[in-house]
Amino acid sequence: MLQDVALGARSLSDYTHLVGRGLVEEIRERAKRLEGKRVLHVSATAFGGGVSEILYALVPLMRDVGLDVHWRVILGREEFFNVTKLMHNSLQGDPQSISDPEWEVFEAYNAMNAQGLDDNWDAVIVHDPQPAGLRANAPDRSRLWIWRCHIDLSTPNEETLGRLLPLLRDYDESVYHMQKYVPDGLDGRVRIIPPAIDPLSPKNMALSPEDASFVCQQFGIDVERPLMCQVSRFDPWKDPMGVIDTFRLVREQMSDVQLALVGSMATDDPEGWEFFQRTFSYADGDPDIKILNNLNNVGAIEVNAFQSQADVIVQKSLREGFGLTVTEAMWKVRPVVAGNVGGIPLQIEDGETGFLISSPEEAAQRTLSVLGDPELAKRLGRAGKERTRELFLTPRLLRDWLGVFEDLGL
Ligand code: UDP
Repeated sequence: MLQDVALGARSLSDYTHLVGRGLVEEIRERAKRLEGKRVLHVSATAFGGGVSEILYALVPLMRDVGLDVHWRVILGREEFFNVTKLMHNSLQGDPQSISDPEWEVFEAYNAMNAQGLDDNWDAVIVHDPQPAGLRANAPDRSRLWIWRCHIDLSTPNEETLGRLLPLLRDYDESVYHMQKYVPDGLDGRVRIIPPAIDPLSPKNMALSPEDASFVCQQFGIDVERPLMCQVSRFDPWKDPMGVIDTFRLVREQMSDVQLALVGSMATDDPEGWEFFQRTFSYADGDPDIKILNNLNNVGAIEVNAFQSQADVIVQKSLREGFGLTVTEAMWKVRPVVAGNVGGIPLQIEDGETGFLISSPEEAAQRTLSVLGDPELAKRLGRAGKERTRELFLTPRLLRDWLGVFEDLGL
């Protein structure tokens, strides 16, 4: 049996005045025809990373509008997650391929998890590559199968993608953040839906400036001094060492600046710990660089506080599926300086809702302009907030999923 994820309740009505009455009414109207439909989301983990962030809000809202929706995570041991981590990197462009014995591990865990899947689903939505083999092993357990891709497949290791594609082709539809992530050879039955953040979650609810600074002070931040912050898993694609380089360049011009690197380690991310250690060494004991992880009890409220308190949010990613941390920062009216990769330019219009950068030098220059010009910081932050409200909040995502269900005849 796959493991059920326990979820709190959410009410769509609570979102009415944040997203506007029109959208909420449209959702209710469209959901009427889908009442009672049984939908299962399957993902690799319930903790850490963008997928779980999205599902914690989306699944309860799907329930609130009348569907019978569940979320389960697959079972896997370290040997499986080692392979899926390799696969993840490889699909995002790492030249290292997956060996035959590693594919066997992948297939064995998918087959085992498929055995534990109950039946009678109207739709199963499989998130990301880790459980992608479920359909091939248990096609009869659901009427419809949808694969939801959260990663950047624009420059994949072709060998790895080539072995995954036959599994993906069998799905009734696959859903991507952006058109450029759709692999060649998967034409038709493809849909583009960007993800979203939940404005009512503890991570994104408005925190008073007093609370934000109180929280940050407990982690040694001097709230009287300028603060740069990146919130991200410790992963090479997130380039935390590039953030440290950026910080050092900024400090040459602004001696009192501080940096916080806030990052949890997902349970399916064994490389995370090693990379964390490397980042820690790279900071070289600098007292103005604070590196925090979930062992420091950094949960949603702490992430919220750092994002709210920071004078500039940096997201120096080298690859990025979408970049929910950018969305979260924009929602908190923060100026964001972020890598011009993946889904980030979908969110940041350069110079309007933040700045797009491609090197530590450029990041430092943009950071300095934001830190030196509070009016500019405010203008970018406010424009980012309105863009997020319009495009990247959970009710919009819910509406788009209802559209998928309608079109597939759920
Ligand atoms: N996150 C968190 N704590 C951390 C690091 C990340 O809660 O220490 C959250 C972050 O706020 C965001 C998600 O994990 O909601 C990361 O999503 P994103 O799309 O930025 O990147 P991913 O990890 O999926 O590549």
